Amino acid sequence: MKIGKIEISKIIIIVLVAILGIMASYEFLELRFYREDVVVSDSFTEEKMLSDWLPSIKNTAVDAPVYIFDSGVPGGSVLICGGIHPYEPATTLAAYVIMNNINVEKGKVFIIPRTNMSAATLGMLGNAYPKFFTIETEWGEKKIRIGDRATNPLHQWPDPFVYVNYPSGQNLAYTDIRNMNRTFPGKEDGSLTERGSYALMELTRKENIDLYIDLHEASLMYPVVSTYVAHQDAQDIAMMASMVLSASEFPMKCEVSPSNLHGLTHREVGDYSDAYAVLMETPEPFIDRVAGRMTEELMTDGIDEFIQTAAENDLIYCNYDINEGITMPSGYVVKGAPMDYRVGRHLSATREVITWMGQFDPAKEVIVTFPGFIDVMDNGSGFYLSDPEEADESKVFKN
Ligand SMILES: [Zn+2]
Repeated sequence: MKIGKIEISKIIIIVLVAILGIMASYEFLELRFYREDVVVSDSFTEEKMLSDWLPSIKNTAVDAPVYIFDSGVPGGSVLICGGIHPYEPATTLAAYVIMNNINVEKGKVFIIPRTNMSAATLGMLGNAYPKFFTIETEWGEKKIRIGDRATNPLHQWPDPFVYVNYPSGQNLAYTDIRNMNRTFPGKEDGSLTERGSYALMELTRKENIDLYIDLHEASLMYPVVSTYVAHQDAQDIAMMASMVLSASEFPMKCEVSPSNLHGLTHREVGDYSDAYAVLMETPEPFIDRVAGRMTEELMTDGIDEFIQTAAENDLIYCNYDINEGITMPSGYVVKGAPMDYRVGRHLSATREVITWMGQFDPAKEVIVTFPGFIDVMDNGSGFYLSDPEEADESKVFKN
């Protein structure tokens, strides 16, 4: 058989496509199976899985580790959730810093650093951006994965034409059926994402969680950036916390959850459990639509000239300056919105709502210490992460 010129060029193209496909699949698989080694503090008592509260998600992609820190002293209980939107990774890093350093003197703390584990197994579809970012520690660089906003379509597919939130009946964007912060209060026999939300509600109800903290990051052009969003039952707590933070550490706004906006934790956790529900947002330039190149630097230093232009034209909803920087109430000058600034915000904002719950409702007091905004601004987040190689084996987990 004679092979003509056209056939040869076809074979070459097929081989080139195959090579590119193999290279791309290596990249996809690397992100899909990468897990961070995390270290827990001496207050750690037990690791459970989300499926312990809803067995139907056992061995599925939305099952996630839950780290429990029980002082043994009666008091309140707090659930801290990072990474329900993995492309907001200061939330997971803040959870790692808390887990690694927390001392619980009274009450009980549950921490889930990656609440939607499935969404952390792929990058943001359609946006060419890095899979990981790294932070400096005392013992070298730590690599942490970024992720998507929604459950991996390999785990839940297809999307409907319209997503109808259960049980409110509210119509939401079709992709929100994979957005775990739109599927609350969840559905016991629903889609994978709805079952994930339901498992979180079951954990909240069965463990008598008093304060549900949902950590997020927002684009700077989103009005609720640098804000607490609190269920009406938690508004006094969040309002006091926002006033204290804005006077002493960094500007923090406060809003009450709209009663007719369904599917979000700050609405449904408050309505379907006895917990006070508070969501909090930091400024993350990386997810703004107007930002320039999606690089690891943009993720970690948060400096972008296009957002700067937007800021100069009053198009954003928080303080932002990449040239002179913004002077915080605590005296720090912050240029852009770097990772440590965002992690620090979540640490102090978490601490403050826990404190104020105890002030308003002493029976639910939880006494904890962990690093805050000022510590992280002085030393960097990486300073507060222990070396998994050096730590006691019983205190190291794959997350
Ligand atoms: Zn979010």
